[in-house]
Amino acid sequence: MQLLLFPDSVGADLGLKDFAAISDGAVIEAQNYYRRMEDKLAIAQRAGKKDRVKAIHARICARRRDFHHQLNTRLVNSYGAIFVGNVNAQALSQTGMAKSVLDAGWSAFRTMLLYKGARTGVWVEEVDEAYSTQTCSVCESRTGPRGQEGRGVREWTCGECNTTHHRDVNAACNILAAGRRRQQQESPSLPRKRQPKAEGGEDVNK
Ligand SMILES: [Zn+2]
Repeated sequence: MQLLLFPDSVGADLGLKDFAAISDGAVIEAQNYYRRMEDKLAIAQRAGKKDRVKAIHARICARRRDFHHQLNTRLVNSYGAIFVGNVNAQALSQTGMAKSVLDAGWSAFRTMLLYKGARTGVWVEEVDEAYSTQTCSVCESRTGPRGQEGRGVREWTCGECNTTHHRDVNAACNILAAGRRRQQQESPSLPRKRQPKAEGGEDVNK
């Protein structure tokens, strides 16, 4: 595979509120299949209906897989290289967000993406997403939301360069930049062209 063929690369930030934000500006809402079926599941469990419990679990899995499949297909059909953040489900599932983490299925999504990338000749790489939320993707200052109080911030304006960011799309742009930096280090002949910045967020899952 030739590394020079990556001007059409993209970054993807996986999260809980939105399942994914893409550096092209697309925001894909979390589907919460598990949460939606939670009541039915509890009823079946209390009634001791093991087959019903199994069937509900299978349905949740199938829907999540289908959702992952659709998004992965769209990504590998649109881009030559995809960089995805290494968000760690294990660390987050220790917190109060365990159910959402369960619902997201990040590692299953990434595994499928890697597999699909390999099959279609699209470069897929997991990159370290440290500071991707805090860093402004335009001027690289760390002016973004941080810590506990920054958790709920969905949109913010950089105090240095005055750019307004969608939290997760900005993170996706930083993931893309980190992926490109890595490619540069591995292959100095790569073009140093930057993608035009995406503006705002658009829900493509409607
Ligand atoms: Zn800035």
